Amino acid sequence: MKTRRERIAEMISETDMSPSEIARAMGMTVRDVLEDLVHISRSRKYGTLLVMPARCLKCGYTFSPDVKIPKKCPRCKGTWIEEPRFKIEKG
Ligand SMILES: [Zn+2]
Repeated sequence: MKTRRERIAEMISETDMSPSEIARAMGMTVRDVLEDLVHISRSRKYGTLLVMPARCLKCGYTFSPDVKIPKKCPRCKGTWIEEPRFKIEKG
């Protein structure tokens, strides 16, 4: 039996996914997905978590890579934000 985190790690070792995509695929809330991703990023057993940072779709501002979904762009104050995407690189 695989744990939920192992299943998430397995999914994103094949293709990069956003928290909303993972939440949909797993039947979880985005909040729980982000919590699992934080644990995955801190543990070595899953491999290395790569973060493709969130981006403002209005002005193109790129956020720093983080396991978070920003609400607002610091540059243009826009709220049209593309979620970060996550991928596991196996060591
Ligand atoms: Zn912006």
